[in-house]
Amino acid sequence: MTDAREAELAGNLAAVEERIAAACAAAGRARDEVTLVVVTKTYPASDVRHLAGLGVRHVAENRDQEAAGKAKETADLGLAWHFVGQLQTNKVRSVAAYADEVHSVDRVRLVHALSAAAVREGREIGCLLQVALDADEEHARGRGGVAPAQVGELADAVAAADGLRLDGLMTVAPLAGHYAGRQRAAFERLMEISSGLRATHPAANMVSAGMSSDLEDAVAAGATHVRVGTAVLGVRPKLR
Ligand SMILES: *Cc1c(COP(=O)(O)O)cnc(C)c1O
Repeated sequence: MTDAREAELAGNLAAVEERIAAACAAAGRARDEVTLVVVTKTYPASDVRHLAGLGVRHVAENRDQEAAGKAKETADLGLAWHFVGQLQTNKVRSVAAYADEVHSVDRVRLVHALSAAAVREGREIGCLLQVALDADEEHARGRGGVAPAQVGELADAVAAADGLRLDGLMTVAPLAGHYAGRQRAAFERLMEISSGLRATHPAANMVSAGMSSDLEDAVAAGATHVRVGTAVLGVRPKLR
């Protein structure tokens, strides 16, 4: 049973690896310019362990309640933990204990809370600003992410905060509105915003974009990190 699961994960991982390699080749990029972050949400710590055995070094979760226990159970593996979900300030203290990279920094209040928590933990946490490419559209209300026009101000806040490191930008391709069905255009827009950011924060060169269904578009646009769940672990059961 366990062995069957490991074999399934190995096959899926190999297929994703092949897609990333092909996308890099098509874009004239070196394979090592793109880091695979496997999103393990809804799947057990035993899968994280299998993935580590298969060479995965970066894993991601989107809910603290689930991530905290899994990170603890697999602490011996030395994995890099990425937090990719909307983050409430009351969860920040827990997240700061295990997250190496937070992809969903989207407001100054969160920056202050995360900074205080990182200092308390004696850790440095990498931060990506989550950009809402559709922030000015009605359907985007309340989904998180900073508007492109506010990226500079938020970046300055992270750069000035103790315990935090400004690493770059993240986005999720909008499902509705101007960018609906146009992932490549969405990711190219994120790259433009990244260029602007790097003019004042040159070290903030990480670009997290692309999931199971659109990682090729993200690699073509220039993403440095792709976040892949379903294609590695399988279709998730619907959340209760
Ligand atoms: C779940 C999730 C992913 C992975 O999505 P898949 O379609 O399963 O690959 C990527 N990014 C974020 C923010 C997620 O919540």
